[in-house]
Amino acid sequence: MLRPEGTGVRPVRTIDLGGIRVDLMQIGVFRSDAGAIFGPVPRTTWEPLVREEIDAQSRLLQSLNTLLVRTPSDAILLETGAIPAGERRDNDEIRSVSARDALIAADVDPAGIRYVVPSHLHRDHAGGLTSGDGEAAFPDATIVAPQAEIDAVASPSARARAAYDVPILTRLFAASPPKAFSDRRQLLPEVELRLLGGHTPGSQATIIRGRERTLLFMGDLFMRPWQANPRWVTAFDDAAWISVDAKSSIFAEAAAEEWLIVQSHELAAPLGRLEADRDRFRLVSE
Ligand SMILES: [Zn+2]
Repeated sequence: MLRPEGTGVRPVRTIDLGGIRVDLMQIGVFRSDAGAIFGPVPRTTWEPLVREEIDAQSRLLQSLNTLLVRTPSDAILLETGAIPAGERRDNDEIRSVSARDALIAADVDPAGIRYVVPSHLHRDHAGGLTSGDGEAAFPDATIVAPQAEIDAVASPSARARAAYDVPILTRLFAASPPKAFSDRRQLLPEVELRLLGGHTPGSQATIIRGRERTLLFMGDLFMRPWQANPRWVTAFDDAAWISVDAKSSIFAEAAAEEWLIVQSHELAAPLGRLEADRDRFRLVSE
């Protein structure tokens, strides 16, 4: 069972990076098969880490973490969760509201958001880009995504068609084309987007540089704390070797500069910083 109380929505947590405010909104919880999330890691290694968390079906309890970033000039939404605008879910697998409704509940006008930046376009990250009838949930905002991710949605591969909501995204992108980029894009003076790939062809990292602190959000390349080991990737990663190399490289940068990391699906301790640990890293929660 999911937690019995409420909608799964947690209070907004505000992070001050120095001149940039980031509101972490945990807009729901869902269950994921633990073996699939731990990918290549043997059960005898991972089970002791999550014995308290897994249910009778060996499912983890995962959070839908969404970030509202306010720079001096603009508001940006990172991730849109799984649920279409105007809807909510409450069953054994997921309990969540939509990102748009979570913003409204937090007294934020969705029309004031300039950019919507999903880390990638899997259903649990792009589900809130539309309403249930396929209309844009944020018609005043520009969606920003790597061209590789937009191309992946259009790919004829059976794997891609199972992972993305192809009809909805195809219709959305035809009506409001996303702003695409290839490798890196400086979206605003304080906000850099970086193509990493691996988890999906166009998985991206968002790096936000405040006066005092830099924040890194990299979607499902870093969903839970144990993924501080670059080799611990999920079974859903399209190209695990690319994930491992991309994580190793950006983790070294993040550890050296003590970036604040927000994990995509961690419920209890979503914030932390990386420290080098032998041939891997460990996450120190903050
Ligand atoms: Zn995810």
